[in-house]
Amino acid sequence: MHIQADTERCIGAGMCALTAPDLFDQSDHDGTVVLLRAGVCGQEVAEAARAAVEACPSGALTLTD
Ligand code: SF4
Repeated sequence: MHIQADTERCIGAGMCALTAPDLFDQSDHDGTVVLLRAGVCGQEVAEAARAAVEACPSGALTLTD
């Protein structure tokens, strides 16, 4: 499973970094999402990734198999 983050859509709400801090951070410059790692393995990490995708208000995050 892979995560994609569209920084053009991101509005810097920070829900992803709050929900899954091992996977996402925010830019010090403009608050947009910074992907800490694109590959997701392990059920716990996958659930955190899904929760972050659902929490994102801008639809900037995508999970692919
Ligand atoms: S939750 Fe969505 S809008 Fe907010 S920082 Fe993360 S990717 Fe950007």
